[in-house]
Amino acid sequence: MSRDTLDVIKHVVFCEAAKQLVITDNPVVKILSELRTQGLASVLFVCCCGCKNNFKLETSPRLMNMDTSTAYNDINVRAVWGSIVTGNGASHLKEVMATMDAPSFVPACIYEN
Ligand SMILES: [Zn+2]
Repeated sequence: MSRDTLDVIKHVVFCEAAKQLVITDNPVVKILSELRTQGLASVLFVCCCGCKNNFKLETSPRLMNMDTSTAYNDINVRAVWGSIVTGNGASHLKEVMATMDAPSFVPACIYEN
């Protein structure tokens, strides 16, 4: 679970206006837009339906690479490793992502080693 997700959960737990929505069985959080998608990870812009506070929410935490300042999303790294251990390669994973109409995310450096 990403830090952003925890921040949204913490907010709605303590937001009095959101609590009233829960009691009346109404939605508490609304997705306003998808700001960016990289592979299986997205950055969403969400709103508390109670107090109208807005939050940026990354659907997957970022992992810091030891050699560079690039931070890959956890879900994308797991997909790459899953592809490797099942005997598939970068091309196969890219083909699967294209079939799902999802943007490619396989960084070349992962398959170089
Ligand atoms: Zn709120």
